Amino acid sequence: MKLMLTTSRGIEDLARKEVEGLLRKRGVKVTVKEKPLEVEGRLLAEVEESFYIDEKGKKRTLEVATLLNERSRLLHRVIIHIASAKLKTLEEIYDFVYNLPIEKYVKVSESFAVRGFRKGEHEFTSLDIARSVGSAIHDRLSRYGTPKVNLNHPSVIFRAELVGDAFFLGIDTTGDSSLHKRPWRVYDHPAHLKASIANAMIELAEIDENASVIDPMCGSGTILIELALKGHEGAIIGIDKYMKHLKGAEMNALAAGILDKIRFIHGDATRLSKYVESVDFALSNLPYGLKIGRKNLIPELYMDFFAELSKVLEKRGVFLTTEKKAIEEAFEENGFKVEHHRLVGHGGLRVHLYVIS
Ligand code: SAM
Repeated sequence: MKLMLTTSRGIEDLARKEVEGLLRKRGVKVTVKEKPLEVEGRLLAEVEESFYIDEKGKKRTLEVATLLNERSRLLHRVIIHIASAKLKTLEEIYDFVYNLPIEKYVKVSESFAVRGFRKGEHEFTSLDIARSVGSAIHDRLSRYGTPKVNLNHPSVIFRAELVGDAFFLGIDTTGDSSLHKRPWRVYDHPAHLKASIANAMIELAEIDENASVIDPMCGSGTILIELALKGHEGAIIGIDKYMKHLKGAEMNALAAGILDKIRFIHGDATRLSKYVESVDFALSNLPYGLKIGRKNLIPELYMDFFAELSKVLEKRGVFLTTEKKAIEEAFEENGFKVEHHRLVGHGGLRVHLYVIS
């Protein structure tokens, strides 16, 4: 079986490592290709059928898609791959899908819907793609009975994606809500971080077992909550200047069932040494001055914050920002060394991720 897996752009390597780890631990043979057909934020996993013995001693098939939906922290979607090809027009897409053995994937008695996704320059919309693919599936299945379309509550969701000229069709086992939308998010911060990227930051930090970790501008607490959910044993501290966000972070932590694992402090990160004497790791999605605050205040905020951080940080920091110049000047001025840098796709933005020591 082939699975098309989606994640944020720029963290495909980390998602691949996670998937390989989750599957190999259970004895499942898997090969994962990053960015199939050059499409960013995608992985193509080839998984061998595998089995397990249940509590009654019966041999059962291991449902790999279910396992990944339940356990992955970096993936957005787990899609059973039906076919992919280089295609350009809606007519080509219709013909391609109509000639696929769709009846192997869905019974005519099961209702279905198609969700379309499109990126790049096209003269049609993602709704047009969904419509063409839906007609092709309907026409193909009509050979075997009367197909049922149910756009709101389908039994089977097909996902049809066109990125540039890379077309891909699959069955979306994740459903309509992407995995990065965590059920614990009861408070929606206007600039919250995707949980998948928070986990990528945690991976890149290489946090030791009992280390103390701080997010000095924690917003709704995404990074810290995800860290606590991973079972981190050391101290976890979150600071935010705005009570509203701090209360929101507490509500999220409560919903996640880990409120007792995080110490939240209402405070100013530019006075960090007032709240903590020393901390092993600092991870934060810094303000960019786009959604909240003013952009011209960012260089000073970063300079003051990193001056404070240099007084307390023992090991590594992982930071995310769009403000490359401001953060690099603040690193330089305050004696931090950049160990790793990469660009990550967050919403419509390309964000700089730094690991520093
Ligand atoms: N990662 C967070 C999340 O997922 O919700 C979002 C963080 S948001 C990009 C940046 C946060 O920094 C905002 O919540 C803002 O209130 C906070 N902030 C801005 N200036 C601050 C300061 N001087 N001290 C502490 N927090 C600050």
